[in-house]
Amino acid sequence: MINRNPHIANLKAGYLFPEIAKRRREYASKNPDAKIISLGIGNTTEPIMPYINAGLVDGAKQLGTVEGYSGYQDEGKAALREKISVVFYSGKFQIDEIFISDGAKCDIGRLQILFGAGTQIAVQDPSYPVYVDGSVLAGAAGGWEGNGYSGITYLPCTAENNFFPNLDLISQNSLIYFCSPNNPTGAVADRSQLSALVETAVNKGCIIIFDAAYSEFIRDPSLPKSIYDIDMADRCAIEVNSFSKPAGFTGIRLGWSVVPKALKYSGGESVNADWNRIAGTIFNGASNIAQAGGLAALDEEGLSEMRAQTDFYLGNAKLIRDTLQKLKINCIGGDNSPYIWAHFPGRDSWEVFADILEKCHIVTTPGAGFGPAGQNFVRFSAFGHRADVEEACRRLGNL
Ligand code: PLP
Repeated sequence: MINRNPHIANLKAGYLFPEIAKRRREYASKNPDAKIISLGIGNTTEPIMPYINAGLVDGAKQLGTVEGYSGYQDEGKAALREKISVVFYSGKFQIDEIFISDGAKCDIGRLQILFGAGTQIAVQDPSYPVYVDGSVLAGAAGGWEGNGYSGITYLPCTAENNFFPNLDLISQNSLIYFCSPNNPTGAVADRSQLSALVETAVNKGCIIIFDAAYSEFIRDPSLPKSIYDIDMADRCAIEVNSFSKPAGFTGIRLGWSVVPKALKYSGGESVNADWNRIAGTIFNGASNIAQAGGLAALDEEGLSEMRAQTDFYLGNAKLIRDTLQKLKINCIGGDNSPYIWAHFPGRDSWEVFADILEKCHIVTTPGAGFGPAGQNFVRFSAFGHRADVEEACRRLGNL
């Protein structure tokens, strides 16, 4: 028989969210009367707003006409790439530097192909699990060693360092995953922090994969929404982004990656040319219907709908944060991000998860699932219906 890919065997236990769903099911089957509210995962809950939805419907209708029909669109529709460049990057990028994807997570997984096994990886700790698990699958990280995977440099983000890592820990020639606004901590790096990150990457020959999936939640105008707001970032960073959270496209699937032409490997070869080759080889492009929705989302009306939808989730975040603060539970995030990171000093995060489930019938996400530095924390997600969030806030008083 054919052998199993040994990298799969290196992955520890199950993916975090199926594990949480399993524990929720087990609790619900033992407590059938419990009306469980989930503030656990980052899945959107509100309907797609009318103008953007009409864009999707129109996209589907177009496909039923001779003039409007389109087939494969490998790197994405030119009009959408152009609009992304204008709306998010002040037109700084040419359309062949922007690649439309079926979501940020899918690209985060695929981007590893550019660098391959043996690449030194650095991640914020805690971090969105796909950075680490994807690195293990690509063979860039080895087996689990008690508190982390070998081959990965964990960059602790803690209350002591204000949730921004010590960049001195990053080795030469690393691939750095960096997420701001951060999932799970809700921290947003400011301009001087991102400048220091870019400077480190340039000086140490590193490439940053900058995950900006939550950039539309930033309300403080002084905070950078893109790594390319920082000089020299086009020499050292790829940015991934998504329509999932601001437009409610989690189930539609649409995102993009910016791979600047200025970005080069150590030997001077173009990363952009390789990504173009890879995208054409293993990806046949995002759904044309999703892309029609994306185009609508970037019209004036669509942008204001995305603003309203992110405002709504930020309203939820404020309710949760205010409740936790009244309960004297220290937390960060929730102002320019949909996540609130709550500190339970000295307590195991899976135990806190179980306690909140037991006493409040609320599902959260245990911080340890995001990395070693997530121990003693749980993450509250602001993705939920308002009535559920209000009810959850009342129940938190049971803690
Ligand atoms: N990046 C981060 C940091 C996320 O938290 C998520 C989803 O929760 C994603 C990417 C996934 O985005 P997409 O739905 O576009 O795959």
